[in-house]
Amino acid sequence: MRYQELSYWLSNVDEPLSPRPALPGDADADVVIVGAGYTGLWTAYYLAEADPTLRITVLEKEIAGYGASGRNGGWCSALFPTSLPALARRHGRDRALAMQRAMQETVREVGRVVAAEGIDCDWQPGGTVVLARTEAQLGRARAAVEEAREYGLSDEDLVLLDAAEATARCAADGVRGGTYTPHCAAVHPARLVRGLARAVERRGVTIFERTPVTAVRSGAAVTPAGVVRAPVVVRATEGFTSTLPGQRRAVAPVYSLMVATEPLPEETWARIGLAERETFSDYRHVIIYGQRTADGRLAFGGRGAPYHFGSRTAPGYDREPRVFAALRRVLGELFPVLGPDVPVTHSWGGPLGVARDWAASVGLDRASGLGWAGGYVGDGVGTSNLAGRTLADLIRGAESELTALPWVNHRSPRWEPEPLRWLAVNAGLRLMFSADEAELRSNRPSRRAAAFSRLLGH
Ligand SMILES: Cc1cc2nc3c(=O)[nH]c(=O)nc-3n(C[C@H](O)[C@H](O)[C@H](O)COP(=O)(O)OP(=O)(O)OC[C@H]3O[C@@H](n4cnc5c(N)ncnc54)[C@H](O)[C@@H]3O)c2cc1C
Repeated sequence: MRYQELSYWLSNVDEPLSPRPALPGDADADVVIVGAGYTGLWTAYYLAEADPTLRITVLEKEIAGYGASGRNGGWCSALFPTSLPALARRHGRDRALAMQRAMQETVREVGRVVAAEGIDCDWQPGGTVVLARTEAQLGRARAAVEEAREYGLSDEDLVLLDAAEATARCAADGVRGGTYTPHCAAVHPARLVRGLARAVERRGVTIFERTPVTAVRSGAAVTPAGVVRAPVVVRATEGFTSTLPGQRRAVAPVYSLMVATEPLPEETWARIGLAERETFSDYRHVIIYGQRTADGRLAFGGRGAPYHFGSRTAPGYDREPRVFAALRRVLGELFPVLGPDVPVTHSWGGPLGVARDWAASVGLDRASGLGWAGGYVGDGVGTSNLAGRTLADLIRGAESELTALPWVNHRSPRWEPEPLRWLAVNAGLRLMFSADEAELRSNRPSRRAAAFSRLLGH
């Protein structure tokens, strides 16, 4: 496989992406981690930091960063897939706020490690601007700020922008206002995950690549080459989780797709803005996200690719010409300065993981020694760091502020069996698209998206 072709980011790393050695045969470890994305590697990083004597083995079916971690939008944000009100309803206001603050702290923590380990990943803490380009979107921008205020968050966390302020940050077409939060950094995702893999190796962790795990059970991870026995086994497989026996209905893989433009000339950037490399989005229902890359491209993505029956994942599923065309069209609508033929040079995608209740979780079952983290939806760049720190505490039996957070040991219900899962997820995706189209036509908020949220229960 040519790993460079998996994303613009993986084509733009200063290394050949040659796989590390595979597992040669049976082995013993203190902790075995399945998956070398951010979740697996952050867990290894903090475990090795806390206890350098631990024998930690990471098993990866392809190479470090093969999954979403090497392909994402590069927003290291404080976003968490469960909203503050939903967290407060389930766990109380204080614990919901603690979760929010922990996420904000996480952005700073990733920045700290990036600097400390010398990971060259274009880290730029420029915040996020979310634009409002219709009356309905403006309503949602105001509601987001009001909600933040109700939870005691200030202008320092999320501020409402008028049309001029929003345009000054990101001069998209027809901007009526928006919001800005400083709690986000733009990052080159593949350089982050590849640099992290080297950092954990420097701390004595062993990573075996091209080593697919065929079963995870108490005390062992099984591969065709041999069995790694360890009292703790961590599943860090996110969008690929459904391929493990017994996990088919745990996490649904939903594909997010991206495009990148060629490097844009300075005069184009002078008209678009994003001078601080703010990550950007707008208040439509079907998520879109973008960043100005360090080499002057627009990297831009969105959902909308279909969910595949049986939670299947396959390389071809991240190439949907219809979605790439839509992304290109939306990019041209946002920034007419790009011209009628938006100069896209790269198109790719990858699977992210969605739990049935849309709740990310991290946990360790003490009896079996099985740990897990994931269900981050589109917010895993930051959240996986918090997961790694939390798993390190849980595995060492250390009680901490992190292990008291409300997502710890949360058990999401399983997804419905097929064909219900397929019908529900794809109907939901269609509902979101039609809600956005209806809003554009009528310029009024659509009730269809709220119905979708209820359908998913988040
Ligand atoms: C296109 C796209 C854009 C995104 N944009 C953003 C964003 O801007 N901000 C944000 O916060 N989040 C974003 N996300 C989500 C984010 O990338 C993920 O939540 C995060 O990378 C998950 O990390 P992970 O380590 O849990 O999973 P992954 O990175 O998917 O890693 C899982 C690893 O496990 C390996 N694996 C799977 N099965 C096995 C097995 N049986 N044996 C051995 N190894 C196995 C895989 O090969 C893979 O390397 C995006 C996702 C996508 C796809």
